[in-house]
Amino acid sequence: MMDSKKVVRIEDRQDRWRYVCPRGHRSWEPTNHHFWCQKCAAHPEMDGVFHELRDRKTDDLLDRSQVRLLDRVGPYDIDLDSEVAE
Ligand SMILES: [Zn+2]
Repeated sequence: MMDSKKVVRIEDRQDRWRYVCPRGHRSWEPTNHHFWCQKCAAHPEMDGVFHELRDRKTDDLLDRSQVRLLDRVGPYDIDLDSEVAE
């Protein structure tokens, strides 16, 4: 119950290989409440926005609230990624 979030280091090469957009691209970026994929956005019939990151190792789909995103300086989004008591 304490911390079941998956840590995804968005600038780490191994994590970039492991966590991909639902269509398997590594060109995604986090947005405030979901994710955005550059390759999907470039497709004429697709929206680049997606809500679940795919873990290629376990084949799980992870919602934005289930991951803790870290970049070089620390948590990407303090609001979402810090543990806030209900
Ligand atoms: Zn994509």
